[in-house]
Amino acid sequence: MRKFDVLIVGSGLAGLSLALQLAPVRSVCLVTKRNLNDSASSWAQGGIAAVLADDDSIEAHIQDTLIAGAGLCDPEVTRFVVEHGRETVEWLIDQGVPFTREEDDSGFHLTREGGHSRRRIIHAADATGHAVQETLAEKVRRHPNITLLENHISVDLITSKKIGRRSNRCLGAYVLNKQNGKVVTIGAMNTVLATGGAGKVYLYTTNPDVATGDGVAMGWRAGCRVANMEFMQFHPTCLYHPQAKSFLITEAVRGEGGLLKLPDGSRFMQEHDERGELAPRDVVARAIDFEMKKRGIECVYLDISHKPADFILSHFPTIYRRCFELGIDITRQPIPVVPAEHYTCGGLMTDLDGRTDMPHLYAIGETACTGLHGANRLASNSLLECLVFAQSAARDILTRRNSEMPELPNWDESRVTDADEEVVITHNWSELRRFMWNYVGIVRTSKRLARALHRIDLLRDEIHEFYSNFRINANLIELRNLLQVAELIVKSAMERHESRGLHFSKDYPETMSDAVPTVLTPSNYYSLLDQNHGHKHQ
Ligand SMILES: Cc1cc2nc3c(=O)[nH]c(=O)nc-3n(C[C@H](O)[C@H](O)[C@H](O)COP(=O)(O)OP(=O)(O)OC[C@H]3O[C@@H](n4cnc5c(N)ncnc54)[C@H](O)[C@@H]3O)c2cc1C
Repeated sequence: MRKFDVLIVGSGLAGLSLALQLAPVRSVCLVTKRNLNDSASSWAQGGIAAVLADDDSIEAHIQDTLIAGAGLCDPEVTRFVVEHGRETVEWLIDQGVPFTREEDDSGFHLTREGGHSRRRIIHAADATGHAVQETLAEKVRRHPNITLLENHISVDLITSKKIGRRSNRCLGAYVLNKQNGKVVTIGAMNTVLATGGAGKVYLYTTNPDVATGDGVAMGWRAGCRVANMEFMQFHPTCLYHPQAKSFLITEAVRGEGGLLKLPDGSRFMQEHDERGELAPRDVVARAIDFEMKKRGIECVYLDISHKPADFILSHFPTIYRRCFELGIDITRQPIPVVPAEHYTCGGLMTDLDGRTDMPHLYAIGETACTGLHGANRLASNSLLECLVFAQSAARDILTRRNSEMPELPNWDESRVTDADEEVVITHNWSELRRFMWNYVGIVRTSKRLARALHRIDLLRDEIHEFYSNFRINANLIELRNLLQVAELIVKSAMERHESRGLHFSKDYPETMSDAVPTVLTPSNYYSLLDQNHGHKHQ
C-alpha cells in the first residue's frame, strides 16, 4: 500500500492545475491511465472564456451562460465561476502558457464563439489545450512532491465502509498498473476524481479514447448522486473524412465568419435560427442532423474560403494543416462536417469546493456536475470550470487536517484470465456505442430509450460475470464504466418529460415552465447519509 495526502485521478487541465496548487504543501499522487498528455484538455482548440476585455462585463458573461443553459444553470455557481475567471486565467499566464497576443502586442487576442455576446475567448492560436497541457505537464513532471503514475487506471474507490468502519468516507483507490497487470492500493486523506467526460459511450465523438466516464461510474458505485446526465452535447462540426478519427473543427471558424452550406452550396442555418451560424451549438447540431436526415446526405459543409488566405492560416493553422493532409485546402474549399458527441454536461454532484456527497472525495472538471452548464454548456466555459474548481478544491483541501490513515486491504490477485474475454469485450463495446448513437443521440423518443435500457440490462449481466470472476484489464474496466454511464444517461433522459437544451424528445417537444435538474440517487447513498450523521454538501 502506498500513502499520500492527496490522490488525483486524471491529468487533464483539472487534475494538473489542482496538483500544482497542492504540491508545495501536500504529497500528491497523480494517476493517469495513459500518458500524461492523453486528455480532452490537450485537444481543446478554441480557448478559455473569461471576462478580460474592457467592453465586456461579468453580467454579460453570466447572462450568456444562463441563456445557453436553458434555465437550468445554477445562478450562484455561474456567478462564482465567472467572477473567478480572470484570476484563474492569470494563474495560467503566470505558469507560462503562450497565449496568442494582438498583432500590435497591445494585449491578448480574444476571439468570439457561438453563444457569446462579446469577444472573450483567450487562446493559443487554434491549439489552446495543447499549449496549456504541455506547459502544466512539464511542471508536474519536475515537481518533487508529485508522484506521477502514468499507464495506471483507477479501478474503484476505497471507502471506509468497505473496510468495516462505522463512518463512511473515501480512503483512496485501487489502481491497475497496465504494464504489469498488478493492482496497487493507494491510500489518501483526500481523493479527487478529475477523469473527464464520457464521449466514448457514443459511436461518433470528438473525445479522446480516455473519455469513458470512469469517475462518474466510480463515484456512483461509491454512493454519490449524479445529475443532468441526459445533457450530452453534440459538437455540430466534426470533420467528415474516412481517415480522420474525431477531428473537430472549432466553433471559432463560425465565429470568424465560416458559413454552413448544403452540398449545392446554399446556406440553411437562417431557416432554423435567426442567429444563423452563431446560434448555440445544440441548435446548430440539431439543424445539421435535420438537414442530413431530410435530404439523405452524409455531411454538410463549413465554408470559410471567402476570407483571405493569410487570415485563415494565422487563425486556424492546425485545422488548415490537418485538412490539407487529407486533400482539402480550406482557403479554397468548404470543409465536410458532421455532428459528434462532444461534452458531458452532467456528472457527480458537487458543491462550490468540488466536494461530492462522500466525505474526502472531490470531483472537478468534466466529471463533475457543478450546476454551471445547466442544460447546455456555453462554448469555452468548460476549461474555465476546470480552472475555477481546481482552485476552490485546492483551497478546501488545504484547510483540512490530515488524520490517521488505516491500513487498507490489498486487491484479490488470485483470479485467472479468460481466453474468451477480449472478443466479448470488443463486441459489447461496439454494440453499446452503436445503440447509444442510434437510440439516445441528438433526437430521442421514449420508445428508443426503453429499447436502449433493455440492451443495457442484457449487457450488464455478461460484463458483471467477467468482472466478478476473472482478472481485470483496462478494456474491461472501461467497458464496465461506460455501461454504467450509459444507464445513467438513459435513465436521466427517461425522467425528463420535456425538451430542454441538449435533450430533445419527439414525445415531449415542449419546454416546461419550471426548470428542474435530474438527480439520480444510488441505493447506497442513504447509508452514506446515515453513517455520516446527515453529512451532505448540498
Ligand atoms: C476536441 C475538443 C475540443 C475542445 N475544445 C474546447 C475549448 O476550446 N474550450 C473549452 O473550454 N473546452 C473545450 N473542450 C472541452 C474541454 O477540453 C474538456 O471539457 C476539458 O478539457 C476537461 O478537462 P478535464 O481535466 O476534466 O478532463 P480531461 O482533460 O479529459 O482529462 C481526463 C484525464 O483523466 C484520465 N483518466 C480517466 N479515467 C481514468 C482512470 N480510471 N484512471 C486514471 N486516469 C483516468 C485521462 O487519461 C485524462 O488524463 C474540448 C473538448 C474536445 C474533445
